[in-house]
Amino acid sequence: MTKNLKILLASPRGFCAGVERAIEIVERALEIHGPPVYVRHEIVHNKHVVESLRAKGAVFVEEVSDVPDGAVTIFSAHGVAEKVEIEANDRGLPVIDATCPLVSKVHKEGQNHAQKGREVILIGHAGHPEVEGTQGRIPGGVHLVQTPEDVAHLRVKDPKALSYVTQTTLSVDETRDTINALKNRFPAIVGPDVKDICYATQNRQQAVRDLCTRVDLLLVVGAKNSSNSNRLREIGGEIGVPAYLIDDASMLDPKWLDGVATVGITAGASAPEELVQELIRRLGEFGDTQVEELKGVQENIVFKLPRELNDGTGPHAGA
Ligand code: SF4
Repeated sequence: MTKNLKILLASPRGFCAGVERAIEIVERALEIHGPPVYVRHEIVHNKHVVESLRAKGAVFVEEVSDVPDGAVTIFSAHGVAEKVEIEANDRGLPVIDATCPLVSKVHKEGQNHAQKGREVILIGHAGHPEVEGTQGRIPGGVHLVQTPEDVAHLRVKDPKALSYVTQTTLSVDETRDTINALKNRFPAIVGPDVKDICYATQNRQQAVRDLCTRVDLLLVVGAKNSSNSNRLREIGGEIGVPAYLIDDASMLDPKWLDGVATVGITAGASAPEELVQELIRRLGEFGDTQVEELKGVQENIVFKLPRELNDGTGPHAGA
């Protein structure tokens, strides 16, 4: 099959500041301490990132109990429950926390609500590591809801003393619907509108909306377990564009290109740009391609490294 394909790239796409920071934390820890360093859970949800760090000497474990005594231990960008931190401290493990500062901000918000005597509702996906971390950071526990329908089934102690926080990587629109359902049922509830949804998630979702008005097919580079990547694929579906979430170019099915003149590509916040470039090269095997990057929001957010790694010389110094 020989085709003329136009390829439109969403902007922004791919790595966010929290993912860049988390990867840099592991790399710096390896430089400073030497391998191995132990990382609890995938540092970010991308197997290519995980494999490349593993090749440099990172060891990925499920639980703190899998870390040998005295070994440098890194918590992933998704954050951890307090009990995980306590376990690591009790064992005297040297811990470096790669939790994204925007996730930590949600933890603090939830804790403040709880301190003021409000029950906390978390809008998020059950089982996601960020949700488990946030649930395990808020004294007294949280109610987890995912959809407006879940709100109807909530049973709370005092409807006048309620608050909510949200996972950082949800769909902006769905979250707004769920917040509205909460406000309708509990008019006194307090919370941040959709502001907990992080800048990177919001920007990538808006970019994909713009992209989908102009393409016949949407390809999202990202991992199946990446929350923000899944939301990007869903947006394509909502707009009526066939949309696929793929780990990398090897997953491209040539049948998807039947009748397609313009392909849109984006990437989740944990997907490296080299995977996008590989996909563009792969599409080039089907014929002539013309690549254009759409104009989007310029992102210039950088997060400081944890103090124990920031020697003042790195790109994040003073950020
Ligand atoms: S997606 Fe947002 S919250 Fe998650 S690591 Fe990136 S910047 Fe942080």
